[in-house]
Amino acid sequence: MTQSTPMMKQYEKIKSEYEDAFLFFRLGDFYELFHDDALKAARELEITLTKRGKGDSAIPMCGVPHHSSEQYISQLISKGYKVAVCEQTEDPAAAKGVVKREVVQVITPGTVMDGKSLHDQSNQYVVSVEKNEGLYAVCAADISTGEMFITGVDEEILALEEAVSFDPREIVLPGNVSDSFSSRIKTRTGAAVSLTGKPSMRNEDEVLLSNIPDKRLWPGAFRLITYFSETTKRALSHLQKAVYYEAAQFLSIDSYSRRNLEITETMRDRKKNGSLLHVLDQTETAMGARRMKRWLERPSIHKETAERRQSLTASFVDHFMDRETVREQLRGVYDLERLSGRVAFGNVNGRDLIQLKKSLQQIPYIIETMKGVNNSYADELLASMESPEPLVQLLDASIKENCPPSITEGNLIKDGYNDKLDEYRSAMTNGKSWLAELEAKEKEATGIKSMKVGFNKVFGYYIEVSRANLKYLPEGRYERKQTLSNAERYITPELKEKETIILEAEEKAEKLEYDLFLTVREKVKSYIHVIQETAKTLSIIDVLQSFAETAETCHYVKPSFTDERRIELENSRHPVVEQTIDAGEYVANDLLLHDEREMLLITGPNMAGKSTYMRQLALIVVMAQAGSFVPADRAVLPMFDHIFTRIGAADDLSQGQSTFMVEMLETKQAVERATSSSLILLDEIGRGTSTYDGMALAQAVIEFIHNEIRAMTLFSTHYHELTRLSGELKRLRNVHVSAREENGSLTFLHKVVEGAADKSYGIHVAKLADLPSGLISRAAEILTSLESESRDRRADPPEDNAVQQLSLFPEEKNHPVLDELKKTDLMQMTPLQAMQLIDDLQRKLK
Ligand code: ADP
Repeated sequence: MTQSTPMMKQYEKIKSEYEDAFLFFRLGDFYELFHDDALKAARELEITLTKRGKGDSAIPMCGVPHHSSEQYISQLISKGYKVAVCEQTEDPAAAKGVVKREVVQVITPGTVMDGKSLHDQSNQYVVSVEKNEGLYAVCAADISTGEMFITGVDEEILALEEAVSFDPREIVLPGNVSDSFSSRIKTRTGAAVSLTGKPSMRNEDEVLLSNIPDKRLWPGAFRLITYFSETTKRALSHLQKAVYYEAAQFLSIDSYSRRNLEITETMRDRKKNGSLLHVLDQTETAMGARRMKRWLERPSIHKETAERRQSLTASFVDHFMDRETVREQLRGVYDLERLSGRVAFGNVNGRDLIQLKKSLQQIPYIIETMKGVNNSYADELLASMESPEPLVQLLDASIKENCPPSITEGNLIKDGYNDKLDEYRSAMTNGKSWLAELEAKEKEATGIKSMKVGFNKVFGYYIEVSRANLKYLPEGRYERKQTLSNAERYITPELKEKETIILEAEEKAEKLEYDLFLTVREKVKSYIHVIQETAKTLSIIDVLQSFAETAETCHYVKPSFTDERRIELENSRHPVVEQTIDAGEYVANDLLLHDEREMLLITGPNMAGKSTYMRQLALIVVMAQAGSFVPADRAVLPMFDHIFTRIGAADDLSQGQSTFMVEMLETKQAVERATSSSLILLDEIGRGTSTYDGMALAQAVIEFIHNEIRAMTLFSTHYHELTRLSGELKRLRNVHVSAREENGSLTFLHKVVEGAADKSYGIHVAKLADLPSGLISRAAEILTSLESESRDRRADPPEDNAVQQLSLFPEEKNHPVLDELKKTDLMQMTPLQAMQLIDDLQRKLK
């Protein structure tokens, strides 16, 4: 039976150790897959499914050729699968019995190192979360660059938030983690989750954690490092010391808000194009692009950090010529972080080393240019940047500029680098010129002009004479070796002698070149940490020159930071929207908030620009705290600690949550965690439910933020009744986005002005959307009748903006439902309980 052959036994044994991966089992020139792996792979890769064995015992099998396996592996990886690559680890010719096989690497979505699968503009994080002595360690590392970050938080929900914020490709959790946590993290990140056993704590890994004083965080980091070494099965000398951070060091933008604000990708199709990052990113290197993404995802909360970055951005704005030069120089710098990762990984080729050399050669020039920029932060940065001269010299002396991608077929190492290699090469050249001479000499002697000396792998060197010319060849001059249809091939003892010399020299040269290449690569390894430091500095310079470039082309201004709670924006714009409309079309707006004016209640017709106005403030805050200039004529900002948003339809049906539930969850985040240094943006709260409870919730939220949290807040609403709150809540002001109504049609002015809008213009927008005219006029009729009904019902119709408590129950001042509502402490409730309460109240009213 097929299953019982020794080879299949070997397969089963190895497969049992890699249950969660496709096992690519090397058989000669193919990787074969069996059983379920074969069924699934044939489907996923669209390759032919065959069988191994006969009759009932036949098992499903499929295979991919060894030389093109990379492409199949990366297809599987991009679909979130893992692949265990099992090689023959002994020469099949020398093997007794079944050839030894071993898994040499497990390739996973988070540990893949090949260029095709890596996005050069974003990091590829694997994140581990581990609870230890009451503290959750969240550790994120990018194996392609060697970076590692770690933090500790004391609540599961915060750990989840932190893990999500890295947008990980893979999650590693302890085997005994609760199912609910592992499924929540999987749903939120969409990443593959691996549960692993006890991590091994190796002494050499401790160095990586030497900057992490709290040892409770160590097991989480070890779990990740162990995962890396068990999957890659090699020493990862490029892993950098873990950097400890506290979430509180950064402007916190929870994942809902980050998505809503489209900071690094659009909400709908998750594309960079259309995001803030896309507008800002004028970086020249992949390292710079990744850093910019990181800074925008985690802007600083420290004024000094933001101001330091701003100062260099400003210097780059002022020194246009130097900026141009640096941009040009950076263009010549390849992805040093990933190159060093690949050096450590052992999969660089000659071309990579040439890229490394060229990049390092730019450094002295960049240093020189940066001196001209005349900025103290630049000087500080330059101190940490060095061009490792000996390494550049080594690479320059050893590796050929136009070497082939393969490292085993020679033509890699320069002449003059190694005497022995030069010797082989001269033997090869001499041999070859001897062959040329032989050809000339024999042509002369025989008079056969078309005679040629050739080579093939089976017969080696030969002299070829065409059939037509055979009659001119003296009998017995050469020894016949091969007959072709139109020619004969011959050899001579002398030719064979030279052939041995040439082939030996070639073979030895290839082997020697390979060895020399490996020694060079080993030497490069010892520079990895220097290269990484330099890469870091270059990436900072790159981001800041890019900030300057965008500041100039898009007319941004340097924001100044104030220690007061105060926002002053003059002629501010939405950085992304202004790019999508014709130049000069965007209507710039002012914004003023301070201690006596903390909240704006924004009204205005649909499509007027309310949410754009709110988003633009959030994006300006993000940009400023990341160190960028901002789209305004003047900007004064405080340092915010959190941004909370509930904007637009963040309806996430894929996570099984209703719009209203998402809305409540986002609101909960804001009311629970915001401080007086936070920024809250709430768009149309309460719209997802019926009018009264929607409005009730909206008002309760406004009151709570106004009275308890005191965060700076923009609140847009279509409940015009709420505008009356400005009379009661001291620090709340009404503003509206203006529109002009003329002859029944509406022109949006997009201008934000003080005071409440006089009505909502839903029907006009419906008209804009080209709804049937009969329907529109019917809606207008209904509206008129509703308006007159409500006028009739109101005994004492309130004036717009009048100081008057919004009354949900105009007829009854003391209604039991009202009493219950008053007693309710909304903040002690979960959103579900709140919904339940509203449901109860409604029932009582019916
Ligand atoms: P609302 O939230 O009031 O319904 P939006 O903020 O979604 O409206 O804006 C609707 C559209 O109006 C936007 O997609 C944008 O194209 C345009 N818009 C918004 N603000 C401005 C502005 N300040 N200048 C020019 N166009 C704007």
